Amino acid sequence: MKNFNKIMEGNPILGMMTQEKEVLWQNPEKISFEKSMETCELGEKDVDDAEQRLLRFAPLIRKYFPETQAQNGLIESPLVEIDVMKQYINEKYESCLEGRLLLKEDSHLAIAGSVKARGGIYEVLKHTEDIVLENGLLKEGESYERLGDPDIKSFLGSYKIQVGSTGNLGLSIGIISAVLGYHVIVHMSADAKQWKKDLLRSYGVDVREYQGDYGEAVKNGRALSDADSSSYFVDDENSRNLFLGYSVAGKRLQAQLEKMKIKTDENHPLFVYIPCGVGGAPGGITFGLKLIFKDDVHCFFAEPVQAPCMLLGMATGLNNGISVQDIGLSGQTLADGLAVGRPSAFVGGIMKTMLSGEMTVDDYRLYDYMRDLFEKEDIFLEPSACAAFHGPVCISTKPEMKKYLEKNNLTDKMKNAVHIVWATGGSLVPEEIRQEYMHAAIVH
Ligand SMILES: *Cc1c(COP(=O)(O)O)cnc(C)c1O
Repeated sequence: MKNFNKIMEGNPILGMMTQEKEVLWQNPEKISFEKSMETCELGEKDVDDAEQRLLRFAPLIRKYFPETQAQNGLIESPLVEIDVMKQYINEKYESCLEGRLLLKEDSHLAIAGSVKARGGIYEVLKHTEDIVLENGLLKEGESYERLGDPDIKSFLGSYKIQVGSTGNLGLSIGIISAVLGYHVIVHMSADAKQWKKDLLRSYGVDVREYQGDYGEAVKNGRALSDADSSSYFVDDENSRNLFLGYSVAGKRLQAQLEKMKIKTDENHPLFVYIPCGVGGAPGGITFGLKLIFKDDVHCFFAEPVQAPCMLLGMATGLNNGISVQDIGLSGQTLADGLAVGRPSAFVGGIMKTMLSGEMTVDDYRLYDYMRDLFEKEDIFLEPSACAAFHGPVCISTKPEMKKYLEKNNLTDKMKNAVHIVWATGGSLVPEEIRQEYMHAAIVH
């Protein structure tokens, strides 16, 4: 450990983190949304631009992926109330979660079966539009459906796309790129599950495997891509495009809440809990939600006790200048999608003044939440996605939360609250792996 001892002093939460204890952290640097936008490099028009781009591509998506037909080629997930789970949580954890509990089922997003179907697919579409326009392949006013024609597909085949991944990002980038005609190479970390590699290979994706962690896979992918002028590297740690793809979720969620006649305003707070790996997905979603609901939405990230990289960066103020290994953690967790040792500097910068807080969670709990949700609501999520359930449990059981509620003038408004657990993945998990998860014995 370099000079981290000094940083750890006077910051008791860091001491608990080094001992692999679960913590609940409230962000002392959160300020009003309006204020935090004054220094933010991205804004509403960037998100609108991403939204418009997804609309232009919708006819093409619809053509390749008929399962998106009902939504006219938009990739969007259901928002459902899980009241049986809410009551069960209140019994099991002796908690008193007030208000309504909803699940945002990005686990069931088309094509990739995870939240990565937002950012990953958007980034490949953006890159494709750039290539196509540069090369004059689309006439003005022509539908993007034309990009599925054999001549353009084979043109795109002269370009490469590469990405480093713990699994789900690789699935999303790999599938969409292969379908569009690219030569796509996915660099997989040791955490990545075999079935994900098999699925990618069935699409003709070039899958390379590494012994090391996610950082290692990214490093190799980036180096290979940089050395090849026909290759584009999807940079999970720095990509503005990925982030903007995720942020489109804000407006889409607003429309869903309106349809369910759910109000969000200063008397009806919205709490959102999102599992966090490198930060792009939860950061982008938070940004999109903040643009719409401003100070009425309260976003919390959930991370595994062994890989709380974003929390470590935020609580120390060192952002990506510190890794979980620096404080003696392994970074290894059963939540493969969250097994990241160092956060995105770019996302950490934007979240610094917007995020409400974070909770860390033990691996065994992910399996408890997974089994309980399946039993009570008949919904299957992968373990990583279940980290988000630790949000409502913490909010309603931890005495420290009182401070947050008081500070934000919410104490007497919680009966009107809506809590959204952001379910980030699971629908593509094969049946035999689900059975393994369901029967796995996890020691506390
Ligand atoms: C990738 C992923 C996340 C977190 O996204 P990041 O952009 O890495 O923070 C959460 N849950 C699942 C299932 C994921 O695949």
